[in-house]
Amino acid sequence: MVDVTLLGTGGMMPLPYRWLTSLMIRYNGSSLLIDCGEGTQIAMRERGWSANPIDVICFTHYHADHISGLPGLLLDMANSDRTEPVTIIGPKGLERVVGGLRVIAPELPFEVRLREFSGDGEAFEMFGYRLKSFKVNHSVTCYGYTFEVDRAGKFDKDAAVAANIPLEFWSRLQNGEIINTGDVTYEPSMVMGPDRKGIKITYCTDTRPVPAIEENASGSDLCILEGMYGDAEDAPKALKKKHMTMQEAAKIAASANVQELWLTHFSPSMGKAKRYEAEIKEIFPAALIPKDGETRELNFEED
Ligand SMILES: [Zn+2]
Ligand SMILES: [Zn+2]
Repeated sequence: MVDVTLLGTGGMMPLPYRWLTSLMIRYNGSSLLIDCGEGTQIAMRERGWSANPIDVICFTHYHADHISGLPGLLLDMANSDRTEPVTIIGPKGLERVVGGLRVIAPELPFEVRLREFSGDGEAFEMFGYRLKSFKVNHSVTCYGYTFEVDRAGKFDKDAAVAANIPLEFWSRLQNGEIINTGDVTYEPSMVMGPDRKGIKITYCTDTRPVPAIEENASGSDLCILEGMYGDAEDAPKALKKKHMTMQEAAKIAASANVQELWLTHFSPSMGKAKRYEAEIKEIFPAALIPKDGETRELNFEED
């Protein structure tokens, strides 16, 4: 089971009723946080969570509303007696940015491992999931991410019996092991059916619509996209500042064939974002204007 929570839905600055956009994904006892603007640690506390289980922090780009909460969060983790290393992932410049932010949080009781990437499509395999970056188009270098948990095929008992594979090897084959015994070799493909559908989440904010979003979000169970503006008259502003409107995001979700769309990163000038929901649902019916703390539990499909 993958547990997804959008801690905040705001862009640019935190407001009394709207925290900055940040995504928490919890899987297999490990937590991943994507983006950490000012106040993210408070948004997390509001859910009743400690910062302690966060193993990975990941940045989309280096604008303050996505990173300035880092020193406070690291100090919060230190305060929770964390000693295990923390990995921070981000585009080129990560070392410089984290170094700068850590001037006010230099002493930590855990190691901070930096994984800086450049280019397109870098993937990180950790804690049983795969995080993949894709480049988008914002006023500074910016990336979206997909989070994926794969699911192996079903064990075919009849095939194992038919191939005379001894019972003692079945579970090892199920775990992907190739077994050599005497002059016989048993391979997982002899007993495993085709890979089954896993779980996929896409998170992409602060960008103009680009084909990479649709390509990477394709088939997501949950797709979280920027919807900075909802009024048609704000479309030129989105173009100029390299942000995306709700309508543009909904069109991407429709062509990427995702199961569900959440919009986020609302402009501080936008009052109740929910009022746009009916219009957005006309473009993509499975769209939601979430509130801060919106949560979804994603499970593997029943066989
Ligand atoms: Zn932003
Ligand atoms: Zn930005």
